[in-house]
Amino acid sequence: MSMTSAEAARRPLSIETTVDDEHDLFRNELASVAPDGRRRWIYARQPSGRFYRWRSWLSWGLLAFLVLAPFVRVNGLPLLMFNVIERKFVFFGLLFWPQDFYMVVLVALAVLVTLMLSTVTVGRVWCGWLCPQTIFMEMLFRKIEYLIDGSAEQQLRRSRGPWTAGRVVRTGTKLTIFYVLSFAIANVFLAYIIGSDALWAIITDPPSQHVVGLTVIVIFSFVFFLVFARFREQACVLACPYGRVMSSLIDRQTITVTYDFARGEPRARLVKGAAAVPDAGDCIDCHQCVTVCPTGIDIRNGVQLECVNCTACIDACDAVMDRVQRPRGLIRLTSHEAVVDGRLRWLTPRSAAYAVVWVGLMTAVTWIVASRSALDVTTLRQPGTLYADLGDGRVGNFYNVQVFNRTGDLRPFEIHALEPAGASVTPLGLTAEIGPHALLEGRVLVALPLASLEGHQSVPVRFEVRTGGTVIQTLSSAFVGPPTRNGTRGTSGSGGQ
Ligand code: SF4
Ligand code: SF4
Repeated sequence: MSMTSAEAARRPLSIETTVDDEHDLFRNELASVAPDGRRRWIYARQPSGRFYRWRSWLSWGLLAFLVLAPFVRVNGLPLLMFNVIERKFVFFGLLFWPQDFYMVVLVALAVLVTLMLSTVTVGRVWCGWLCPQTIFMEMLFRKIEYLIDGSAEQQLRRSRGPWTAGRVVRTGTKLTIFYVLSFAIANVFLAYIIGSDALWAIITDPPSQHVVGLTVIVIFSFVFFLVFARFREQACVLACPYGRVMSSLIDRQTITVTYDFARGEPRARLVKGAAAVPDAGDCIDCHQCVTVCPTGIDIRNGVQLECVNCTACIDACDAVMDRVQRPRGLIRLTSHEAVVDGRLRWLTPRSAAYAVVWVGLMTAVTWIVASRSALDVTTLRQPGTLYADLGDGRVGNFYNVQVFNRTGDLRPFEIHALEPAGASVTPLGLTAEIGPHALLEGRVLVALPLASLEGHQSVPVRFEVRTGGTVIQTLSSAFVGPPTRNGTRGTSGSGGQ
């Protein structure tokens, strides 16, 4: 016997409860894939309503941010840059070098926990409202498609008709605009990776000087073109790992786009002039919520992996409720639990636990970023060398030095030896100042009177880094001298920091 959606929704989930009634068939197939495996093209109607309006405004702001972020400069640095080639990352004007990798990991963890916390609390709000894929697809490419190809119904009609001259022109125009936009997006994408200066050099220099860069732009352009012209919602439904992982975080208390089955069922079509069906719910089975869905699903089947929380179905259903003079909110932002027993909870034990982890991580990230020094210096004993006899009663060790300037200013710096007593530092190919946001590499020679070794082959050495008279860092390493008289060797022939 077939059960209602309300009964099905209240039923505890189990593997056995997925196949034996018509309302559960959606679990076995994707809206965008026909039973024979072919792609089923989704002609989504253009939504209209308050959520779509809010989403459009937000999208224009985010689009402007996405496009400008690699070009806008703060303290001489782009707002955002993820230069994996040079391992140089910039977050909102803060520069991170490979030495700060632990910090990048911490920031990535903080971002992940932020997404988890938001998903547990308000579902896949990232997907529908903030994700660049959705913003470009729904707010740019889809709107251009509506402008050129007309409404979803017109698109469907044309797709089933012959290839007339008008259809060829429309399709050609649309695809050309799509490619130009994809090309622009590819350029912006590259600016995030190599920086806007390097991108500008690729654009303005003779093409022969940037064959690799130009090839990458062309490849990216084609990839973006294919994603927005063909792959579309499949990126969210099939390819995106976030969608897959985050869907598993949603539970009955998560506030997400939800159909109020308690109010809507049993659904009954509203037929003009016919008597109202007794005990019918508020859903008039008009399918408006399905026709606007960019992933082609029916939200009345419950929360599904394909739902990107875009709220288009809320707008569509609200418009229907207005027309039939019933209260809005048959589909709304609420939780399954609230529909069943009226309890809407923003804070649950799970979201509280994520919030605690989130606060801890954000505190750690803020503290570490705020307490970073202006310069970061690393010293490493030069590999392959032990010591040099300087011929004046002293022995010397060579150290490779790297200096990172995190600031946008020219910085003077000095490296001194703190211990052992009598140690002196001579820079070799290392200037006394470093340019803004620069990396400086060179060597220093540390000389030590033999007597300071006090019979040991290896002794610890400590350096002090000063800038403008202020000590900003102390470093430790090992100093290696000649073998001791009994022939035993010291701790290590190639010391570390
Ligand atoms: S738009 Fe509203 S009334 Fe129409 S089918 Fe969807 S839920 Fe039912
Ligand atoms: S079910 Fe509603 S919220 Fe979910 S993707 Fe479809 S239209 Fe958007």
